[in-house]
Amino acid sequence: MSILPLGPIGPERPALRIVRGQGPFVYDADGRAWMDLTSGLMVNVLGHRHPAVERAVVRQVRRHAHVMVYGVWPAEIQVRWARRLKTLLPEGLTAVYPTNSGTEAIEGALKTAYVATGRPTFVAFEGAYHGETQGALALIGSRAYRTAFQWMEASVLHLPWDDPAALEAIDDRVAAVVVEPVQGEGGIRTAGSAFWRTLQRRCRDAGALLIVDEVQTGMGRCGSWWACQRLQVRPDILVLGKALGGGFPLGAFVLRASLAQALWATGQIPHLSTFGGHPVACAASLAVMRVIRRQRLIQRVQRLEVRWRRVFERWGQAYSDVLAGARGLGLMWGLVFHRPEQAEAFIQAARARGYLMDRPLFEARVVRWAPPYILTPAQVRRVQADLEAALKSLAGG
Ligand code: PLP
Repeated sequence: MSILPLGPIGPERPALRIVRGQGPFVYDADGRAWMDLTSGLMVNVLGHRHPAVERAVVRQVRRHAHVMVYGVWPAEIQVRWARRLKTLLPEGLTAVYPTNSGTEAIEGALKTAYVATGRPTFVAFEGAYHGETQGALALIGSRAYRTAFQWMEASVLHLPWDDPAALEAIDDRVAAVVVEPVQGEGGIRTAGSAFWRTLQRRCRDAGALLIVDEVQTGMGRCGSWWACQRLQVRPDILVLGKALGGGFPLGAFVLRASLAQALWATGQIPHLSTFGGHPVACAASLAVMRVIRRQRLIQRVQRLEVRWRRVFERWGQAYSDVLAGARGLGLMWGLVFHRPEQAEAFIQAARARGYLMDRPLFEARVVRWAPPYILTPAQVRRVQADLEAALKSLAGG
């Protein structure tokens, strides 16, 4: 029997049958432990079965699960969650619209920008990834991923990444620019401060909204609650998902009050979703936010960034025959190999030592490095030694 979707695992790597998780580890059917250095792809920032998340979820399940399409009879947990989230948001973003996923939140952001500006065009970037429904798909900065499925006419202008001069193309036809602070699937690609400064200025001058997609970069991953704060970018709409739900499906787009009014002025419930803001996911999300704050995990991410930046620089020099360098922010890094086969060989060598790693969708030379925030100092040292041994085995030394 084949189970879909198993696509990204690929035929060359036999799929693991995961039966349980604990902390940073998942366990397969044979009882073997694997440390997941992707955090379930940026989701499990506290690892698996964090006691605070588990307690919150069980408590909520005992009270109620789904009640009503939100907004009609809002559940108390949803209101508490939205209030708590608001205290963490960049200034001026005061309306929270919950969804089930990052993709749905992107769709809500696009709808908002369209009705608020009345403009038909969107700008996205080469290498961008924003999800797979038709609107989000239109934004993807990879023709290979887009063309097979795109039957709707969508007017999206794709600009080169980290090219301040190209941003001159943002003009008064543009409803919004959609951007990731660090391109995840594009290969963990950061952009320079000139890019961010110019982007903010061009959006302001053209009257285009700035939609920042923090589905991967948010919830502390880049060393601040939201990466846009660190980059000193002020979004009109912020899109959240993945880690937000503590392992449960939850997304949100958060926006300025005036934009929320424009959305509601359409006269319909503008972005209806039966399960959006599910009470159990909201309970898990509240617990994750509380643990990150109480355990000062964002400061921990910052400290670990300093450590790993040094390690990656040293590896870049010591193993320059295979490794071209590393790039990233916080605990979101890409190890850049000279050739895709080297990246794949590194993943296999890491796997032989008990680690799960992967490659971003659009960049086969890069290996993603995004551990949960909760590794102990001993685990950090162990990961470093084991991955260096894996690199050494590639470099033939
Ligand atoms: N935006 C970014 C940057 C993502 O990485 C993803 C998913 O990987 C999405 C949006 C879509 O989120 P979801 O898969 O929860 O729909």
